[in-house]
Amino acid sequence: MILDKEYRILVVDDAKDTQMLLEFDLSAAGYQVTCCDSGGDGLASLETQEIDLILLDMYMPGLSGLETLAQIKAQTISAQIPVIMLSASTDEDEVVAALELGAGDYVTKPYVAKVLLARMRTAIRLKEKTAQLEYLAKTDFLTGINNRGSFFELSNNAISLANRAGQPLVVAMFDIDFFKLVNDNYGHDAGDQVLRVFSQGMAEVFRGYDIIGRVGGEEFAVCLPNTNRESANIACERFRYYMEQLSVGIITDNNDEKNINITVSIGLVLAPNDSLTIDELLKQADSALYYAKEHGRNQVVDARIISTPDESDKMLVSLMNTDDIEKNNPLQEGIIMANYDGIDFDVGVSNVLGDEALFKEILVMFYQDHHLDGDKLESAIQQQDIDSVKHLAHTLKGVACSVGAMDLFEATKALDIAVNDDKPEDFDSLFSQLSPQINRVMKGIELQLDVS
Ligand code: GH3
Ligand code: MG
Ligand code: MG
Repeated sequence: MILDKEYRILVVDDAKDTQMLLEFDLSAAGYQVTCCDSGGDGLASLETQEIDLILLDMYMPGLSGLETLAQIKAQTISAQIPVIMLSASTDEDEVVAALELGAGDYVTKPYVAKVLLARMRTAIRLKEKTAQLEYLAKTDFLTGINNRGSFFELSNNAISLANRAGQPLVVAMFDIDFFKLVNDNYGHDAGDQVLRVFSQGMAEVFRGYDIIGRVGGEEFAVCLPNTNRESANIACERFRYYMEQLSVGIITDNNDEKNINITVSIGLVLAPNDSLTIDELLKQADSALYYAKEHGRNQVVDARIISTPDESDKMLVSLMNTDDIEKNNPLQEGIIMANYDGIDFDVGVSNVLGDEALFKEILVMFYQDHHLDGDKLESAIQQQDIDSVKHLAHTLKGVACSVGAMDLFEATKALDIAVNDDKPEDFDSLFSQLSPQINRVMKGIELQLDVS
């Protein structure tokens, strides 16, 4: 018999002769075999090995077969592993008890190798089919990430946990900008390719325990457990920037290879302490997303700015409330300022998953690419070259956030918003606030790193 892969079978039986026979027959059939003398040893080896099927003796000293079975089915790591009971007796009550406890099948000893092997194959195939069906029921067909139903279920669980543990949680909603144009210009298949790249990007940028999902056609969402407002804003901004920078390779309807750029608008909401459902939180995130779309797209909007009553306050409310960070962390702030003026080193390093050496390299690249941005912005404003102002402010906003230059981020964001709201009369005064920040950050990097 040829097996699809090397399945590992756990044999739990106190009789040495049975162990030896099984080991011989199963190995000859291509299985890997682990033998244990007792229920306790069997349970212990489930914690250290990946097991595809368990052959479990009914009568053993110590933990009986039924007691062992009950524990196997009670542990999440082993509950899904198929179990075939082995016993010399055919006591019907025992058989029923085993099946009710979750055993998949029952084989009497002395066993007939051919029959046992056939039953094992059936049990393994059934388990694989079930796992496949579960995967299909939870997964979005096109992108391979959680589908709407699965995203909702996982997020609601995470929300309950966060409420119980008193931990912050953020929900964000993403909508690709002008996605219809991709379909219209390059065809629906190209649109599908973009959706796949987009979801791969989400899986890459967000943490392993963040829950990502496709909740609509070109709408995605992420639920960030144990994450405060500031970190969530940074993570979403990092993703927004990641997409903006990414050149997406597509094959058009005419079979041409093309690279296109897409951007994303993001709305996010910090879950309040009272327990809301993911449905309600997504609605609030969606309102913030709508606001982002209305105000120029390609940006992250926190739902709290749209619940601020006074319209004129909206622009003043800082998405990244750096004051809070400073208040909570006065000591750290002092050290950071001494190192890199204007840069929250910890924020920057955490953006590259704690890799300090990599972050320093990024700072050097940031310097090389952007140290002249102040001069460029000034002359673009003087020449009223709105496109250049828009491009420079927008790009600088994204990278400033990524490297943890939060004051510079705030200043460029204000300019970026003024461009989107078509208020060139504000450019000069906003630039005079931005200019000292960019000088300060660039000087800080020059002092610490070799940027020549
Ligand atoms: P906006 O910036 O306002 O979001 O503009 P938009 O063009 O992205 O907005 P709209 O919501 O009008 O368009 C979404 C489009 O997404 C329309 C629909 O045809 C397309 N779409 C939805 N699901 C899929 C899909 O599975 N594959 C492809 N290729 N397109 C899809
Ligand atoms: Mg849409
Ligand atoms: Mg869209």
